[in-house]
Amino acid sequence: MTIAILPARLANQIAAGEVVERPASVVKELVENSIDAGASTIKIDIEKGGAKRIRITDNGQGIAQAELALALSRHATSKIKDLDDLEAISSLGFRGEALASISSVARLTLTSKPAAQASAWQASAEGRDMAVSVKPAAHPDGTTIDVSDLFFNTPARRKFLRTEKTEFNHIEEVIKRIALAHFEISFVLSHNHKVVKQYRAANTSAQRSKRIAQVCGQKFIDHALEIDCQHDGLHLYGWIAQPSFYRAQNDLCYSYVNERMMRDKLINHAIRQAYADLLPSDSYPAFVLFLKLDFREVDVNVHPAKHEVRFHQGRYVHDFIYSVCHRALKNELAINIDHGTG
Ligand code: ADP
Ligand code: MG
Repeated sequence: MTIAILPARLANQIAAGEVVERPASVVKELVENSIDAGASTIKIDIEKGGAKRIRITDNGQGIAQAELALALSRHATSKIKDLDDLEAISSLGFRGEALASISSVARLTLTSKPAAQASAWQASAEGRDMAVSVKPAAHPDGTTIDVSDLFFNTPARRKFLRTEKTEFNHIEEVIKRIALAHFEISFVLSHNHKVVKQYRAANTSAQRSKRIAQVCGQKFIDHALEIDCQHDGLHLYGWIAQPSFYRAQNDLCYSYVNERMMRDKLINHAIRQAYADLLPSDSYPAFVLFLKLDFREVDVNVHPAKHEVRFHQGRYVHDFIYSVCHRALKNELAINIDHGTG
């Protein structure tokens, strides 16, 4: 046997296996990039459930012409520089893998114009070594990433795509989750050239409640207890539904750690425990909860798609979430369900 270094495209395709599970994961990575770029408006255009096209347009800071090629290469990131940064990550991205991975399993073009640059440039990566070609283009300040024919060169993965409708549902769910974490950003989601969801920037409490109602339904808001508690470096806030508003599925379980959407076992366990005797068996609570803590107290680098985190003081975080939710549910009447303030 001889040992050989894999060609760049193949290495990226292997890495893509971890990050790019389906069209919705591409959407998640690209929208998170737009958020990291400080965008206030993000447009998401989907065709055929994302299998044909995923196009994300933002008005963020853009990528300079000289850095376009770098943005597409693996382990290239503007977000961390050293181990200290890795231990206190405040951006959603940091791995420098998404664009390289996606461009290895789809046709990707990246068009961008930073405000300070006179005109826009476009880049795409081709061939086994993923050589990047860059050419002039027209684009307002910001970035558009166009991803078409996902998995066209990895037929085994393409076979795993579900129906257009199912894939689009996953995309819609990703946008809902992100929209709840970023009220200040407006999102427009289209499918096959029709606008499907429009979330306007929500800066007042009333506008935020409206967005919550858009995502979770008016009933959720009508039955929600508002929570806001800080203790010893931990801050938990958001909405938890009264036990009478329980769900047959875990479809309204939204939790965030430092504005990053999570499917975290520890958090879910703490919340379920708070509801333990209050819900019928085989039912789920509904909640939208945000946990904020020092970036150094949490390790987000435990899962390639960053769905999970590890808390340095897990037990403490668990008990805090449990007790805040438990108390709110017990004092249901005393807690103010006032959506007009805050
Ligand atoms: P990461 O987000 O982990 O840094 P990515 O592969 O997702 O890695 O992106 C690589 C780099 O490209 C980012 O660090 C950022 O500098 C740049 N970039 C990607 N998308 C955008 C965007 N929409 N606007 C501005 N810069 C972007
Ligand atoms: Mg990224």
